[in-house]
Formats: sequence, C-alpha cells, structure tokens
Amino acid sequence: MAIDADAAARATFIPQRGVSPFMVAGAQGNYLVAADGRRILDAGGGAIVVNIGHGREEVAEAAARGLREVTYAIPPFATEARIRLVERLTSNWLPRGLTRVGFTSGGSESVDAAIRLARSHHVAAGRDGRWKVIGREQSYHGTTLATLAVGGHVNRRKGMEPLLLNFPKAPSHYCLKCQLGRHADGCIERAAQGLEEVILREGPDTVAAFIAEPVVGGAAGAVVPPAGYWPAVREICSKYGVLLIADEVMTGFGRTGRKFAVDHWDVTPDIITGGKGLAGGYAPIGGVYATDAVVAPMVDAGMDMMFYTFSGHHASCAVADKVLEIMEREELVARAAKMGDLLRERLARLESHPNVAEVRGLGLLQAVELVRDKDTLERFPASDRFVNRVSGIGLQKGVFFYPAGSGEAQDIVLLGPPFTITEDEIDMLGSVLEESIDLAAAGR
Ligand code: PLP
Repeated sequence: MAIDADAAARATFIPQRGVSPFMVAGAQGNYLVAADGRRILDAGGGAIVVNIGHGREEVAEAAARGLREVTYAIPPFATEARIRLVERLTSNWLPRGLTRVGFTSGGSESVDAAIRLARSHHVAAGRDGRWKVIGREQSYHGTTLATLAVGGHVNRRKGMEPLLLNFPKAPSHYCLKCQLGRHADGCIERAAQGLEEVILREGPDTVAAFIAEPVVGGAAGAVVPPAGYWPAVREICSKYGVLLIADEVMTGFGRTGRKFAVDHWDVTPDIITGGKGLAGGYAPIGGVYATDAVVAPMVDAGMDMMFYTFSGHHASCAVADKVLEIMEREELVARAAKMGDLLRERLARLESHPNVAEVRGLGLLQAVELVRDKDTLERFPASDRFVNRVSGIGLQKGVFFYPAGSGEAQDIVLLGPPFTITEDEIDMLGSVLEESIDLAAAGR
C-alpha cells in the first residue's frame, strides 16, 4: 500500500520535527524496515521493549499455535500456556520469594494492579487507613490516571493534574543535579532519608506502599541509584510496614544485565511490576508479581482482585513463554551485560562532547543527556525540542534513538537496543549519535 508523508505524519505517535515519518513495512533482527527498503537500526528497541530482536519465526509460530488452541478464556481459568508461563517465571526468572503472578496487558495496567494489590493487602489485614502510595519526584509509572498520579513525569502529567490524586513524592537520586552538588557524597543518605521523612510526615499508618524504578527510565534517562540506595529503602519500608514496589516495566527481563534490576543489589521487593520485555514486543502482556506475604491476608479474608479482560491472554502467554525460552537458550541476559559494557565504552567517547552533560546507565539501558552548556548544565530552550531533532536526524541516517526526559532532566537520548546487537552496530550507533548531535546543535 502506498502511503503519503502527510498520512504518516497524522498516524505517527512521536512526531519528529524536520523529517517525514516513514511507514514501517517490516522489522527483522535489530532493524526496522521502511516501505522504501531502508533499514533503520532500532537503538531504542522501540520503547525499550524488543529484547530478543525482531521477526523471530519460532515466536510467530508459538503465537499462531496459541491462537489455534484457545481463542479466549477468562483470566481465572487455567490454560496450559498460562500455567507454563507462571512456572517458568517463578522457577527461572523472578527473585526468590516472589511466587505470586498476575498478568496484565502492559506496564500501566501492571502498576495500576500493584497499587490495587497493595491497598487490598492492607484492607484485608484490617489496616484501612493505609492508602497512600509514595512515588518519587522524577519517575514514570504509566499513563492511566492512578499511574500518572504516583509518577513524577512533569510533561506527561501536564494538564491532567486536577484528575490526579495528590500522592506524596520522595526525592529521587538525580546525581547530576543533586542539591548537594554534582555527584556529591551523601546522596544515598539524602535520597533514602527523604523517603523516611515523607513516611513520617504523612504518618506511617496512612502509607500503603512506596514505588520506584530501580533504574529510572523515561522520566530522567537511565539514572542508576548509588549502591546503597535500594538496601536502604528496603530497610525503611520494612521498618514502617510499607510495601516496597519495584517498577521493573522497563528494567525487567534482562535489560540491565541481570534478570531484574533489583538483583544488582540483592533486594527482594514485596511487589514487582513488569511489561515490555516479558514478551519482547511480540505480544501486549505484562505482569504483577508478589510475595506470599502480600497475598496471604487477602486469601484469609476471601478477598478477590478484579482482573482485566485480556489478563493472561492464552496466545500472549504462549508468546511470552517462547520469548523467555529463547532468552534462556541463547543466554541473552549475560549478553545484555556484555554488550552493555561495550555500548558504555563506545558512548564514553561522547563524554567530552560540548553538548553532552553525562553518559549513564546499566547494561543495555544507557542514556546520553544533552545540554547547551556542559559546564553550567544550561539546557536548550524547551521549544527547541532538541532531543527530538537529534532523533529525527538519527532516523534520516539510519538509526532510531528514543527521545526521553522530563522536567529538570530534559533532552535525553535513551538507548535500549535488542540484546542481539553486535559490536559493529554499537560502533555505527555511536558514530551516528555523535553526528546527529553535531548537526542538531549546528542547525539551531
Ligand atoms: N513503568 C515504567 C517504569 C515504564 O517505563 C513504563 C513505560 O515506559 C510504564 C510503567 C508504562 O508501561 P506501558 O506503556 O506499557 O503502559
């Protein structure tokens, strides 16, 4: 089907100034394929989703088989694919102790379900007063009204504020612009103590849960916490009977070089939320994972939690199971760690660039933060949409860069390529990124 640029521009989700969006006619391996045959390296893995690469035939076969087997069955009914996926998750993937699995259709639904689960846990245990979910200043947890409310993504909340519950926010650990100074000592203490202060200010008996991304994704761009942060927040949450929710929608399933990002710090959250990488983009499926202790009061009280119509869709489960099987067979989590090191090494060459404030990240979730002035960290004017220009130029040169950032942390190129990316492709990505930043800066 021929498509004109105007129609494509109307249909596109992320408008790119300065380039005509293209029609994605196919996707293979680490590349998107445009209708005119151009191949575009998918350096964002879409929206940090495509962990095993595009176009795997055996996953398509699993989807077709799943659809032939069971078109649809309500979520409480067992199906073979559902049971197989739960077993694979609990045996091979989830941190020890997380034994309860509920499926959703994506990340926002997973976080929404986690908020409901945390509240239900306390209500079932007779603690009706606990309802607040503490989020963090720079964070993103999804785009439903509850998930926007616990999140701190200024741009995506804009205009919605009257509709959002005013959940308390703890400080984040955005070390580049820490109030104590750039990468100052004492950052962990400040961020973790900040959580404790919020709990005490609100009254522990009113707080149901604390939610955070182990590595902050879209809101601030691959911000990695100081080593002691997660153990410290685990301790604080336990001290006050607050459930700890790790939002691993972006970081889960190998993205940071471990199965889950919390594995880097040996922390067991009470609840984990997931999405994106569970099926690597081959099916819309997410999950919420919890310990027995979270679910026990609900079981005792005979309390159900309402499902979403498409939770645990049979074919989606079959697809996710196949994607995880491929990850295990090809040892792709270890590969994410190895290629993440190479990507970081290549990006380090950009650190001296006059418009690069910082390169940061973990595994194959890396970010390059762009500024007008490296020394003062002065931003490009928001109206420039600088990172969108970089991304637009990158597309013309054959690489898709995912634009990210919000509020204080604007203009961030977020990199999350498939774990199958090669060394040559990493090199190409680095060169195109540097050239795109140069051209965007020269053209303003
Ligand atoms: N949580 C985190 C940490 C995310 O990065 C995202 C999406 O980027 C979401 C939740 C929302 O997921 P979805 O867009 O699948 O609803």
